[in-house]
Amino acid sequence: MPIDAEMIPRERQHEEIASDIYHGGQLLRGNGIMHPGLLHKGLVERARSQGADVIGFCPVTSVDRHSGGFTVTTPKGKIETRDVFIATNGYTPKAFPWQRRRVVPASAFMIATETLSPDLMAKVLPGGRPLLENRYTPLWIRPNEDGTRILFGGTTGEDLGSLNSKAHQLYGEMTRMVPILDGVKLTHCWTGKVAMSFDLLPHTGTHDGMHYAMGWCATGIPMGTYLGHQTALRITGDPASVTALDDRPFPTRPFYTGDPWFLRWAVAWLQWKDRRMMKE
Ligand SMILES: Cc1cc2nc3c(=O)[nH]c(=O)nc-3n(C[C@H](O)[C@H](O)[C@H](O)COP(=O)(O)OP(=O)(O)OC[C@H]3O[C@@H](n4cnc5c(N)ncnc54)[C@H](O)[C@@H]3O)c2cc1C
Repeated sequence: MPIDAEMIPRERQHEEIASDIYHGGQLLRGNGIMHPGLLHKGLVERARSQGADVIGFCPVTSVDRHSGGFTVTTPKGKIETRDVFIATNGYTPKAFPWQRRRVVPASAFMIATETLSPDLMAKVLPGGRPLLENRYTPLWIRPNEDGTRILFGGTTGEDLGSLNSKAHQLYGEMTRMVPILDGVKLTHCWTGKVAMSFDLLPHTGTHDGMHYAMGWCATGIPMGTYLGHQTALRITGDPASVTALDDRPFPTRPFYTGDPWFLRWAVAWLQWKDRRMMKE
């Protein structure tokens, strides 16, 4: 399928963002924005309406395979099941050591501004589109789902410090990108874990009889939703479940057990590459 894209020269970049720090950019018309909390709510409601039990705050502590399926142990009790689907991505626990060795968890961060005037929103992002900096440690900016606030994210993989100091750091980056936002207030700053794989591809498949899908490498909302659905089809034996990513080799590294002690240095190296690229 052809990609609906257009190069925007520097003279026209104010049609997309109130910033002068870029030398133009690429406009991808097929991209969109959504509210991940509402997506999650909708998915939970759909699952429950089909008879699924969704039980929160109930971590799986072990899974034992036997001839009839699996015994899944949790603090709230044991479950006997035919199939297990591991979808823990950046939170993959020690109970799943094979998967945990294959994903590198990293923290991601975002801030939200107070409600802004329609006039200011139209100046900051006239096209109402999300914008991503094309560098090794990207920053991204987008309107919220009803176009009344600016959401801004970045510094993925860095240490948190505190949410307050992270909000200050992201505010500095946001106003460097879009100076007319200087002076607006922030109402929220939040963080969560994402996961990278060593080959920078998402992975899905079956290991030791258990299904898994994870390692989204910044594509979790679309790819996670898609591969979650495909995995459900695989469990029900539907031939439409097949994807190009099924059971590809899922690499790890010697001695890596899921604790990314090297992340700080990897991020520092990528930041150094970004600084060098920006000087050129
Ligand atoms: C600030 C931020 C901004 C982001 N922006 C984007 C974006 O713009 N676009 C995009 O595509 N993605 C984005 N992401 C990434 C996206 O949120 C994730 O890729 C996506 O949520 C992954 O979905 P998932 O269901 O695979 O894993 P998760 O949503 O991480 O869910 C994993 C689940 O596993 C559960 N779990 C952990 N251990 C156990 C256990 N022992 N037993 C049972 N359950 C367990 C956890 O409680 C959690 O509910 C962002 C993430 C963050 C934090």
